[in-house]
Amino acid sequence: MKDNIKQFERFEKQIILKKIGFIGQKKINSAKILVIGLGGLGCPLITYLANSGVGKIGIVDFDKVEITNLNRQTLFNTCDLGKFKSDCAKKAIGKINKKVNVVSYKEKLTKKNIKRIFKNFKIICDGTDNFETRYLINDYCVKNKKILITSAISKFDGHLMKFNFNKKSPCYRCFMPEKPLLENNCQAEGIFSPVAGIMGSLQASEVLKTIISARDDLNGNLVVFNALKTEFRKSIISINPHCINKC
Ligand SMILES: [Zn+2]
Repeated sequence: MKDNIKQFERFEKQIILKKIGFIGQKKINSAKILVIGLGGLGCPLITYLANSGVGKIGIVDFDKVEITNLNRQTLFNTCDLGKFKSDCAKKAIGKINKKVNVVSYKEKLTKKNIKRIFKNFKIICDGTDNFETRYLINDYCVKNKKILITSAISKFDGHLMKFNFNKKSPCYRCFMPEKPLLENNCQAEGIFSPVAGIMGSLQASEVLKTIISARDDLNGNLVVFNALKTEFRKSIISINPHCINKC
């Protein structure tokens, strides 16, 4: 009993929120979330998930920490250079909350391994930096009725979308049917580091809201943030009648 009280003490400030309470906290503690990509988005995202008490976090990444990552990838520091991001993140999460079960997949997500990696998770977070993986994740989530919370960042801008494929919903391909000729990503375009923190935190907020079944306003919507104007815009994503996923 004493242990039980202690276990909940660290979450007191969120348990006193009426929309969370003990019931919501228990849902968070037993949630299983998969995060693909441990970059500028994945770092703040898994930090807030671990801080909030998410029980199991799957992480998929096969990259090593590079010096140019350190302006925005908040789980890593100079001592981590050259080490696998998944190993460093697992260690960092253990320091935040050792009760979080971190399952690390140190591999590139492909058509061959996606079924094995995704099978134990209902909520999937995409924080990858390339269209090929984005489409792979999207198409798998549509077919297997997962909830997909996806974000992308470039320069001073961030995008956030949520798709619940248990309902009638557009998908990522409805928004972007084909990969643009010039692929924007942090490597090529540059990134204002707080944008990564803001969008990764927003992604965490949507994950936690989904777990506790709070307002679902973002479903089928797009939020665009611009740091230079300090402006958020939200719009509905229309179902594309020509989408190859037959949304
Ligand atoms: Zn679609």
